[in-house]
Amino acid sequence: MKMHNVVGDVFDWLKTTHEMTVPNEAELGARFDQAWQTRGAVDHGYAEDYRRIARRLVDYLVETRSRGVPAPAAPISLGWAEGEILVWPDSVVRGDKGQIVVRRVKTGKPRSNAFDDIEYTLLHLATMQTYGGSAQVEVIYLTSETTQPMELTERKLKTRSEKVQEIVRRVRAGDFPVKEEARACPRCPSFFICGDLPSGAITIKNV
Ligand code: SF4
Repeated sequence: MKMHNVVGDVFDWLKTTHEMTVPNEAELGARFDQAWQTRGAVDHGYAEDYRRIARRLVDYLVETRSRGVPAPAAPISLGWAEGEILVWPDSVVRGDKGQIVVRRVKTGKPRSNAFDDIEYTLLHLATMQTYGGSAQVEVIYLTSETTQPMELTERKLKTRSEKVQEIVRRVRAGDFPVKEEARACPRCPSFFICGDLPSGAITIKNV
């Protein structure tokens, strides 16, 4: 986990400091070392192995960012009558045929059903709405060093799109029914305040 935190830290830096550029080796090495010292598994028995793997993930990430002509990765909007959703791409480039490519980056490997996740429906719809039908969404997996174009059948896209619209409508209506789950609840930050509040005044203590 710490190894992925290091990669995430360097990636955040790339997105802000090098949105449209590629860092040189010295700059990248220094920033990686900083991330490793503050967030890495420096005391682990296999620290050097983890460090080497994390550095390879970062190097591959930088390689992928040099494919295509960089474009600003501004948040893209998905607007519906029910409300608006802003989606943050990890990067945006112009491909060799002039098409816009919106990228999502994952530190792991591809899963067979990954595109069933609702985040991809949102990313796809926002991309189409913002950049038009010639735009593409692709996902970069750092561990497997692979890139997959996003694919989703029209039927799945339609059902997920309807589901998201229903979620937005319910959020705007303040409709948040409690859904208890034995596995999820104990780890939930709202665990001790979940459910109906008792009657009487509420006092919030700042500790
Ligand atoms: S504790 Fe959290 S996860 Fe469980 S029902 Fe309440 S809000 Fe949902």
